[in-house]
Amino acid sequence: MQITRASPPGPRAKHGPFSFSRDTRFLQRYLDDLHNRSGGQQDYVGEWHVHPALDAPPSRIDRRSLWRIARRKNYATENPVLVIVEHTPLERRLRAYGFVVKPKKSWHELMLTREEPIALENRRA
Ligand SMILES: [Zn+2]
Repeated sequence: MQITRASPPGPRAKHGPFSFSRDTRFLQRYLDDLHNRSGGQQDYVGEWHVHPALDAPPSRIDRRSLWRIARRKNYATENPVLVIVEHTPLERRLRAYGFVVKPKKSWHELMLTREEPIALENRRA
């Protein structure tokens, strides 16, 4: 699998230091556009967000949310990926985790190889 871009949160997203709520309508349109423009080559693979620390794996809430995505039929994947940007004043690292619900709920870290930088599209204005 190749991760080619990271969506912006959308203009109506709510940002808190320990929480985030996405702009669902904006993101649905973003994904539809991407899907159409790429002729179906690019689609939703998962979520991303920042953890303000190093060695900060998915939280309990993160894991629950990714397993929910894996179960839901209206998401384009049964094996969603969570990319966590571990961000501190000194360092920034990308880590990725894969989630499955079948045959049972589990998650594991994925190995990342970088070919090209991921496009972080118009980050928060
Ligand atoms: Zn998190």
